[in-house]
Amino acid sequence: DGDWLFARSRGRKVAVKSFIMDNATVVGVGNIYAQESLFLAGIHPSRAAGRISRERYQRLAGAIKAVLARAIEAGGTTLKDFTSAEGQPGYFAQSLSVYGRAGLPCPQCASLLKADRHGQRSTSYCPQCQR
Ligand SMILES: [Zn+2]
Repeated sequence: DGDWLFARSRGRKVAVKSFIMDNATVVGVGNIYAQESLFLAGIHPSRAAGRISRERYQRLAGAIKAVLARAIEAGGTTLKDFTSAEGQPGYFAQSLSVYGRAGLPCPQCASLLKADRHGQRSTSYCPQCQR
């Protein structure tokens, strides 16, 4: 939950996106779910994990749960990223807000979504809605 994420993140300089994808932190938050959860919580994916307040981690924990529940409803049966045999996101893709949408308008404010790299992966986010 949010309190646990907050306690666990103190003193960490790693980007919050990498922090929540670390299996030592939250088991099973895949790349797609991490991006969607950060968007829902309004948190910039590159923000240092140790510089996010308890209140914002509580929002993030709620967002992760909401995104996972939505994905499972849409056909995923696992907490890993739900992908089809071709490696593409499945039906859940139809409800994605930011994943794979860099350069397209934000569904909330219509600003163009941007992308940053975290390790090997690209992360899409809204520069207006996510701080
Ligand atoms: Zn936006």
